[in-house]
Amino acid sequence: MADETKMKPATVAAQALGWIDEETRAVVPPLHPSSTFVRDADNGYSSGRSYSRADNPTYDQAEAVLAALENGAGAALFSSGMAAATAVFLSLKPGDHVVISRVMYWSLRSWLLGFATDWGLKVAVADTTDLAALEAAMRPGETKLVWIETPGNPTLAVTDIAAAAEIAHAAGARLAVDSTVATPVFTRPLDLGADIVMHSATKSLNGHSDAIAGALVTRATDAQWEKIKLIRIQSGAVLGTFEAWLLLRGMRTLYPRVRTAAANAMAVAEHFRGHPLVEETLYPGLADFPGHAVAARQMQGGFGSLMSIRVKGGESAAIAAAASVKIWKRATSLGGVESLIEHRASVEGAQSPAPPDLLRMSVGIEDASDLIDDFEQALAAAQRGFQP
Ligand SMILES: *Cc1c(COP(=O)(O)O)cnc(C)c1O
Repeated sequence: MADETKMKPATVAAQALGWIDEETRAVVPPLHPSSTFVRDADNGYSSGRSYSRADNPTYDQAEAVLAALENGAGAALFSSGMAAATAVFLSLKPGDHVVISRVMYWSLRSWLLGFATDWGLKVAVADTTDLAALEAAMRPGETKLVWIETPGNPTLAVTDIAAAAEIAHAAGARLAVDSTVATPVFTRPLDLGADIVMHSATKSLNGHSDAIAGALVTRATDAQWEKIKLIRIQSGAVLGTFEAWLLLRGMRTLYPRVRTAAANAMAVAEHFRGHPLVEETLYPGLADFPGHAVAARQMQGGFGSLMSIRVKGGESAAIAAAASVKIWKRATSLGGVESLIEHRASVEGAQSPAPPDLLRMSVGIEDASDLIDDFEQALAAAQRGFQP
């Protein structure tokens, strides 16, 4: 086997660590659908496997690839990004205090302010792009976890991971980062001081919009990590084996997919910045974007495939533009090979930081000029409808 420690990340991903199936010499691993594993005659489990709610051999390679890409000590697959994220919070205790980013995945925010708060977690929401605001929200000794998302969805708010880690650690808390939008291609939060990285593997990691999956990667395989893994087993938040296999296949093309999509996003963002029908273009790669300097420091080689455009003429113009696209697909989700567009305020509800004129755009790997031309005609069509 090749020396995994010397391979560059793009090689690790393309070859899925270079593992081969020892039994058959296959370069693509087998899928193990078995829910159960045979016990030894002495009643033990020398294979280390007993039942697939605890673990499944199909996870091994995908988890090893993720740990390698994020430079972590261990990784765990979950049934969804939400299952991964909620397992981290459920590993705390009722009464514990946590601080979360104001701009974050809306469904997780709503779980935290609803279920988790009812369960007893004390949840403080802070604008984590402002380090003084983050510091002010901390309760030293009481705050157990800081949860940030960067770039944050859907306004692309950028939080300084290294600075947030320092603030969290100084108060005796851990730092977890939802790095779904950044991907390990551009950001490695553990290298910047984070303790846990979370991914909705449904998005760029799998990349083909054909599986729901989540993942956590940890800096240390400590007691909290063991508790998180126990929560996965006990709550049954396990990934189906077919999805685990699809995820491993998807991750082989992670680097070229995500790099192409990020280059396309940069082209689309640059084209529509300052456009007469556009109020504001939100993309961390733009030099005048508020979080650009921090993003440039903590994102290497690109700024991701997610961006947002605020359409001139307000909510109705934005919805009309989304209604007029022909190539972009009007759908939720992000990080797939196909470009998606969505009016977020109408999805996220009252607590959303999304302005009503905002369209979130997940840029895919199509020809960038098709994406630009299509959104141009959609803006023009919306404007004609808006000012007849
Ligand atoms: C989609 C998403 C999630 C939730 O992941 P699921 O796989 O849909 O459960 C969490 N965070 C971000 C940033 C996401 O985009």
